[in-house]
Amino acid sequence: METIIEIKHVNKYFGSHEVLKDIDFSVKKGEVVTIIGSSGSGKSTLLRCINLLEKPSGGEIMYKGENILDEKHDIFTYRRKLGMVFQQFNLFNNHNVLSNCVVGQVKVLKRSKDEAEKVAMKYLKIVGMDKYVNARPNQLSGGQKQRVAIARALSMEPDVMLFDEPTSALDPEMVGEVLKVMKQLAESGLTMLIVTHEMEFAKEVSDRVVFMDKGVIAEEGSPEQIFNHPTQERTREFLKRTL
Ligand code: ADP
Ligand code: MG
Repeated sequence: METIIEIKHVNKYFGSHEVLKDIDFSVKKGEVVTIIGSSGSGKSTLLRCINLLEKPSGGEIMYKGENILDEKHDIFTYRRKLGMVFQQFNLFNNHNVLSNCVVGQVKVLKRSKDEAEKVAMKYLKIVGMDKYVNARPNQLSGGQKQRVAIARALSMEPDVMLFDEPTSALDPEMVGEVLKVMKQLAESGLTMLIVTHEMEFAKEVSDRVVFMDKGVIAEEGSPEQIFNHPTQERTREFLKRTL
């Protein structure tokens, strides 16, 4: 399968603190990769470097074979290819559900309002929120908000979806509905990169699991390898603490 994103020797400093250390990593088309690891290990920073919310201090980020950190590369075109779902939803509170999924398409992709609404409805249906098009975010539960946020990102029809702990801010009873939608997306062949603390979910949906520790990728492999036969002591320690 075609490699979509490839990261080579990426590091990231905040001041003198090296938060990512010589990261090599790639995502292939259709792959579902989960990133696990303790708080502070650099998972969010890695995602933020991939979508250029943070600028890596060094290394290369290749998108379909081109180094997008090259001056000549248009980062806006690149960022349009990535959908991002955050822990805190980040919905536009002054827009209703449908409008949340339409504005980006009209502004950034220059789609007509009609077309954008059609696309938005398609993805709102997929996440089970098509009955709520006129609701405002503050009328929705956390799980519903996150499903709208997923539909909004999907409406931009990105090549890769990035999720940063999409269920961590939710009440426990709402985690399941969001994971169910994500599982369905994973099975549909969408390329996904997911930071999560939901180990059962990671086990079920991942093609590959990446374990980060103190700014490095300490181990990566199939869910079977990482969860049942980890080779690194620190992976075993982490899993003992979380499972
Ligand atoms: P994780 O997502 O795995 O919990 P983060 O990527 O958020 O980890 O953070 C990794 C390290 O980088 C932490 O020590 C954190 O304090 C530090 N860090 C993250 N963002 C910033 C920032 N904007 N400025 C300074 N330090 C940061
Ligand atoms: Mg984080």
